[in-house]
Amino acid sequence: MVSRTAPPSPGAHSGPPSAGRLSTRIRDAVPSATVRIADVASEMRRRGVSIVDFSAGRAAEHTPPYVVDTAVSALRSGDTHQTPARGTPEYRAAVARKLARENGIDAAPETETIASLGCKQGLTLSLLATLDAGDEVLIEDPAFVSYAPTIRFCGGVPVPVRLREENGYRWTRDDLEAALTPRTRAILFCSPHNPTGVVHSVPDLDEIAHVAREHDLWVVSDEIYERMTWGGRRHVCMATRPDMRARSITLMGLTKSFAMGGWRIGFVHAPPAVISGMVTLQQHLMTCAGSFTQAGAARALGDEPDASVVAMWREWEARCGYMTSGLDGIPGVRCSMPEAGYYGWADVRAFGVPVADLAEQLLVRHAVAVVPGSAFGPAGEGFLRITCVRSRPELELGLERIAAALHEIAPDVRG
Ligand code: PMP
Repeated sequence: MVSRTAPPSPGAHSGPPSAGRLSTRIRDAVPSATVRIADVASEMRRRGVSIVDFSAGRAAEHTPPYVVDTAVSALRSGDTHQTPARGTPEYRAAVARKLARENGIDAAPETETIASLGCKQGLTLSLLATLDAGDEVLIEDPAFVSYAPTIRFCGGVPVPVRLREENGYRWTRDDLEAALTPRTRAILFCSPHNPTGVVHSVPDLDEIAHVAREHDLWVVSDEIYERMTWGGRRHVCMATRPDMRARSITLMGLTKSFAMGGWRIGFVHAPPAVISGMVTLQQHLMTCAGSFTQAGAARALGDEPDASVVAMWREWEARCGYMTSGLDGIPGVRCSMPEAGYYGWADVRAFGVPVADLAEQLLVRHAVAVVPGSAFGPAGEGFLRITCVRSRPELELGLERIAAALHEIAPDVRG
């Protein structure tokens, strides 16, 4: 019998594997700027610093009570076990009702939908289901901070394609075609867009759709902000454009619209073969989304949103207006009302300071957390992303601090 306590053979390591033995996937990864800054801000708050946190996309409001009550009742009635990997029939039926009512998509809940643990996990499942190692995915520059790392974690290669300011932060067909190679497999984009707040019109979507059809690509369409469009604008789903349903993977969730970020619940709509692949992945990776979270989310999505939720969205629109016009009034800052979503995309190029340094100074010296635009890609240099749906007193205090900080940094800047 081999002794389990035998001394290590010569040359064997006695301690834990060295840090160099971690995967290259992790050695090459950078932390999420938005989550990291929000974590630093909450740590500062715990230490008693009066921090104003405009970093992560989190509203001041909590989940509407009628949704919470539904999840609590589910818990109390024994809804405490795993669900099918694709999600409960009730949740998927509610998702299908929502897609039909609001998005013009007539989805088969059994074969075309899956419950995900938030939109990010929907993205991960989508990429794992469609990419082989080395496949390229076109993404926006600037883009949501997690796209490039998640593509890499899934073995793919992110290929940023600049959203040009002179084009209103929209891609043209030519922009996309110039970035194609034989390895291009998918286009991942976000509308309404984080961080710029742009809503893609039908012609904008059709530029992307044309390239996808011509070059046989998947389109992963992140529509997490679809319910929060302002000024009477309407969101249009990529999957509803001609011949796009068969190649569109639509990511949606409740994190933003119902202030349910901590619940980790969302869903994906995609062709049956893709959903079937995701179900296999989900069986192994997470088993399923939470049981009672699906019950609460089904309540939120199944019927028209409660009047209290619609009022909350209207209040968010008003706060976005208040905050962006306040920022725009600071000498040297240009910031317009987003078309959708709840971020101010503030142009601070007049200060001539790298925005990573500006954000660091705002955090450390002035206790205001914002995200440097450079975290979203090189095209974000010169911009700060500022969450506008914090409470009114926080917005007021934050505006005062940002104005004072920028004046201190560059007293002579005008604009
Ligand atoms: N996509 C975009 C564009 C986002 O802005 C966010 C959150 N900031 C997510 C996905 C993540 O959504 P969830 O929290 O539902 O995973």
